[in-house]
Amino acid sequence: MGTPDDRAPLAERVEQLLSAEGPLTIVAAGDPVLRGGTEPYDGQLGPALLARFVAALRVTMHAAPGVGLAAPQVGVGLRIAVIEDPAPVPEEVRIARERVPQPFRVLVNPVYEPVGTRRAGFFEGCLSVPGYQAVVARPAEVRLRGQDEYGRTLDEVFTGWPARIVQHETDHLDGTLYLDRAEPRSLSSNRFVMERWSQPTTERAARELGFGLP
Ligand code: ZN
Repeated sequence: MGTPDDRAPLAERVEQLLSAEGPLTIVAAGDPVLRGGTEPYDGQLGPALLARFVAALRVTMHAAPGVGLAAPQVGVGLRIAVIEDPAPVPEEVRIARERVPQPFRVLVNPVYEPVGTRRAGFFEGCLSVPGYQAVVARPAEVRLRGQDEYGRTLDEVFTGWPARIVQHETDHLDGTLYLDRAEPRSLSSNRFVMERWSQPTTERAARELGFGLP
């Protein structure tokens, strides 16, 4: 976007981030960069720097570990995110949550819209909100449009857990955190989710904590 002069600060910021070795620092909730929305990606970084930035996002996502990471989470206000989920979960969880493996993907300028009316409510966490999880009811299927890291058109329907991941990451690019959409009464520490709410579905948590499910 804008003139070459406008582009320099973002590219410089990314260069500066990449000058350090290893995973990037993940920004925590409270930083306005997570709330300000993002500029559409329009070549601001150039192909070489974009490739290095995407590689750094991937390393950071793996190190966290997480299944998605959006540029604002490393302090960069560009409409770029990465996703990848090997989905190492038991069969009953895979079936209930439709958590199928999602190969690594780069989402550039993604937008999504629901497909159909089916919704699903499951615990979700965020690398920028460490220590807690909450149940978010989301469309079970979405159409995602945008580009990939090479500028090729992306237009694909995601279902189940991968649909949840692309919604969560795309929301980051609009300055939205999952907590904005969560059932407040479901908020649970990671420890509680592990010890009490690890069932394949969220029905028991909904009953005992007192929140609704779709
Ligand atoms: Zn997040």
